[in-house]
Amino acid sequence: MRFVVTAGPTREFIDPVRFLSNPSTGRMGFAVARAARAAGHEVTLIAGPVVLRTPYGVTRIDVVSARDMLKAVRTVIARADVLVMTAAVADWRPARRAAQKLKKSEMSDTLRLVRNPDILKTVARHDLIRIGFAAETGAPAAEAACKCREKGLDLVVGNDVTARDSGFGTDTNRVTFVTPDGRVQHLPLMSKLAVARRIVSFAEGMATNG
Ligand code: C5P
Repeated sequence: MRFVVTAGPTREFIDPVRFLSNPSTGRMGFAVARAARAAGHEVTLIAGPVVLRTPYGVTRIDVVSARDMLKAVRTVIARADVLVMTAAVADWRPARRAAQKLKKSEMSDTLRLVRNPDILKTVARHDLIRIGFAAETGAPAAEAACKCREKGLDLVVGNDVTARDSGFGTDTNRVTFVTPDGRVQHLPLMSKLAVARRIVSFAEGMATNG
């Protein structure tokens, strides 16, 4: 199968030296890319600004902003069977990006923001398996179930990013799989690569069973 995997944060620049972003390191997405490739799939990895090495045999496209990421996804998605959106896409961007560094004296105390496009929703296609993540700070299963319905996804992987051994910057993850039939599967603490293998197996199972 052909996988498209997104990873890492996006950066939304206010001016050339300031941006809005989040603490994503890209490790979960890079693990998915590695696991999919190791299982014999063709993989395109679309990465925000991260400091990770490209997994062997994976095609990588580097992007900065959410809009760049959407553009990159659009260029490759027509040929894809599976989209795994692990990227922590910034939900908002500054309404305007200044070409020159803003002087403190020119800056107001409020920043006007506009919403970024939702990549998962934008690239919906009936024969594309779409897998999303729900990084939450409260009850991950409930949030994941809601995201599954709202975005019409085949699988949502929920995780509580406030737990010490799970979420941003860790090598392990404790996640919950939520499917549109309402099933919730709590997985034990495991490496991000092990979680990645489960995600790849899920996509393979869907492709086989329809
Ligand atoms: O709604 P929320 O942002 O929490 O949803 C998370 C899921 O949606 C993740 O899989 C993320 O990659 C994806 N997403 C997206 N486009 C956005 C924001 C999030 O595809 N603009």
